[in-house]
Amino acid sequence: MPVGAGVARMLASLVRWHAATTGYRCPGCGHEFMISVWADFVSPHILTTKDVKCPRCGRREWMEALVRESS
Ligand SMILES: [Zn+2]
Repeated sequence: MPVGAGVARMLASLVRWHAATTGYRCPGCGHEFMISVWADFVSPHILTTKDVKCPRCGRREWMEALVRESS
């Protein structure tokens, strides 16, 4: 297997894992939600905060990521 393909696959699974285990809570309405893998990948972020849009009230905000316990 070419090295490039292996790296791309590793990155893809990392992004998928991150999106699957990270949620956000809207500071406006308190709604907790997950974002799609694609949205996670394209949204700008600084450390643990991310520029995401609340699916409930539509408010766009820098939100702190909530890491979910995978139990
Ligand atoms: Zn909201």
